[in-house]
Amino acid sequence: MKAWEKNIRQVEPYVPGEQPKRRDVVKLNTNENPYPPAPGVEKARISFSDDSLRLYPDPTASDLTDVLADYYGLNRDQVFVGVGSDDVLAMAFMTFFNSDLPILFPDITYSFYSVWADLFHIPYERPALDSAFRMVKEDYYRPNGGIIFPNPNAPTSLLEPLSFVRDILDHNQDSIVIVDEAYIDFGGQSALPLLEEYENLLVVQTFSKSRSMAGMRIGYAMGNAALIKALNDVKYSYNSYTMNRPSLIMGAEAVKDEAYFKETLAKIIDTREEAKKKLTELGFFCLDSASNFLFVTHNKVPAKQIFEELKTEGIYVRYFNSARIDNYLRITIGTPDQMEKLYGFLERYR
Ligand code: PMP
Repeated sequence: MKAWEKNIRQVEPYVPGEQPKRRDVVKLNTNENPYPPAPGVEKARISFSDDSLRLYPDPTASDLTDVLADYYGLNRDQVFVGVGSDDVLAMAFMTFFNSDLPILFPDITYSFYSVWADLFHIPYERPALDSAFRMVKEDYYRPNGGIIFPNPNAPTSLLEPLSFVRDILDHNQDSIVIVDEAYIDFGGQSALPLLEEYENLLVVQTFSKSRSMAGMRIGYAMGNAALIKALNDVKYSYNSYTMNRPSLIMGAEAVKDEAYFKETLAKIIDTREEAKKKLTELGFFCLDSASNFLFVTHNKVPAKQIFEELKTEGIYVRYFNSARIDNYLRITIGTPDQMEKLYGFLERYR
């Protein structure tokens, strides 16, 4: 080993879903939205001036935070934006999880949480989901250095009611509680109304799923002004210009078109409910999804085999080779056409 090698940080990175180069793939593997962003986003895109590339962006990202604050009925100092919710969450880990006590998150959840905890040397414990993949609220009544969980959870797709989130907050007044609402628009009740009551709550959302803008990388956190200031202080100590100009402009356009947003959500929810029926007929058990994906297991054929055979056919879904979920597939809800291709292929396992 060279002397300098011992100074290299050793980390086991998060593995994102595959982004195939081929265009003809039925891509149901990374929970993107199959519909385009709102028409106003496209209009903004074609009318960019040179300045949007030449000049630095507004470090405060105020055009976007103001639109989001208006939309959610918050003050502008209650919103923080970043490069996808991954960036926002990573900042939040750095900002809020600095205790010697372990932070808590479920054993089966978004696998980036343990990666950030390792990267930032944050101790953590992962209470096990129950046998139905539900969080057990009593597991979060112990001393901790913070709590984070997605609602709906990923990759299980299961939603916890607002009363559950409230219970976790009631039992954890001394910790920051982060609710990762990446998928909340697909049928869940957001924890946002609880912000008035709980100053230790941070709600994180994203433009990647419900607003069809995964490629633009826009995420945001909402909480009381003291939390948002703390996030900004860390951000400005790290990178002043996280958000690029096109994202700031197009993100604001997306939020303005409520009708398009609602219409797109309704289409995906319809397709999801249809998919639950179809997949059940084909021998799958589907967890009760409140998101834009289904978490399913087949009654005869191993998930890994289905995953591989689908891939050969150019139909990409997600398979996690990890404890307790290695016989499940996570299938993003696509257009009805894409889903028909999936059902057609799955007929062979019936
Ligand atoms: N949270 C959860 C639960 C997710 O599934 C994802 C998507 N991988 C993210 C956060 C991050 O999404 P993005 O960075 O695109 O906002």
